[in-house]
Order: sequence, then structure tokens, then C-alpha cells
Amino acid sequence: MEIIKPEEGEILDIELEEDFLKRNKKLAEENRVLLEKHKVRAIDVMGSIGSGKTSLIGLLSSFLSKIFKIGIIAGDLTTDIDAKRLEGEEIKVVQINTGKECHLDANLVKKALQNLELDKIDLIFIENVGNLICPAEFPLGAHKRIVVVSVTEGPWMVVKHPYIFEEADVVVINKVDLSEAMGVSPGKLAKDVEKINPKAKTIPVSCRKKEGIEEVIKALNL
Ligand code: MG
Ligand code: ZN
Repeated sequence: MEIIKPEEGEILDIELEEDFLKRNKKLAEENRVLLEKHKVRAIDVMGSIGSGKTSLIGLLSSFLSKIFKIGIIAGDLTTDIDAKRLEGEEIKVVQINTGKECHLDANLVKKALQNLELDKIDLIFIENVGNLICPAEFPLGAHKRIVVVSVTEGPWMVVKHPYIFEEADVVVINKVDLSEAMGVSPGKLAKDVEKINPKAKTIPVSCRKKEGIEEVIKALNL
């Protein structure tokens, strides 16, 4: 079978993109400096649409809100549905609407950080836009990156998206309560992750059954 791949220099906007990525990296470093100045830890949560990013952040926040003061930055194209789900008495949420942009970038996160009282926060979860492709290339300044992948996305989600899994510190395999019905093995997905990124910690989770959340917290060293 013919496989077509772009040659070096053949992707039309590559120069533009390299420039963007450099700028983004610099802004991500500035975000990290700002976070550390205020002793805030930040965790970037990436994953497909519907993988369970919001549910995971909601559960992690409720488990951790006794220990930490939590802020959340919720990225979404146009809505604030997730932000409303996550907002609580103790939990301040800032919504970023990216419009047509399919990932968060460090500049948008910088703006969101200006809207959080960093001296009153210990831990920030950043919900990235649902996408397994370009968020990999846009570090935000977070200390750790989680990728959420669910068994309902089928058996090939990990092998088809190597770049984002290379970036992950922790991989959450969500909806494991549905693995039999889906005929998708969480163990197989975990092996796929290990091949791409042996350093990543892979945790089976069911957000619906609230299982595996403490293991995720341990894996994040919180
Ligand atoms: Mg969400
Ligand atoms: Zn994108």
C-alpha cells in the first residue's frame, strides 16, 4: 500500500508554526516562573472529547479540596458547560474559550492565571481542549501533564497518537467499568503507553464508579 508522508519543508505553514512554538515555549516558561513564585502547582489535563477530563478533574478536586486550595482553568471552544460543572464554593474556575483554536496555548493560560488569586491557591488543574494531537506541542507551564484515554474510544487511540503520550507523566485509562462491553482491554492500552513512554504512570480509572482516583493522586505525587 502507498503511504504518503510530507517531506521536510513540504508542510505549508511549517515556518509559521515553528515561530509559534518558540513563542509558546517562552510564555510557558514565564507561566512556570509565575506559578513557582506563588508556590502553585499546575497540572495540564489532556485527552479526546468525551474521554472524561472534566469528570476526572471534578473527582480529583473534591478528593483534594480538603488539603489544597484549588483553582481550575477550563478550556473549551465556545461553551462554559464544563466550567459550570466544576465550579464550587471552594473552587474558583476560569473559563477560556478558544473559538476555533483546537488546543490551549501558554498565552491563553497566562491570561487565565491573571484572573486567579495565585496567593490563595495551591493547585491548578488546566482542562485542555478535547484533542489528542496539537496540545502535545503546546506546553503551558504546568508541572505535570495527564492524558486521559477511555476504553470507549476503541483499541487504537494510544498507538495512533504517540506524540501526546510521549508528553504524559500520568496516563489515565478511564471508563474501565465498560471495558468488557466495549471489548477493549485496559491492559492492552497500558502496554501501548509503555512502548511509547516507559516513564509514564498508567492508572486504570472509572470516574463513574469513583475508582482509581487515589492512585492518580499518588501518581501525581500530590
Ligand atoms: Mg470537558
Ligand atoms: Zn490545536
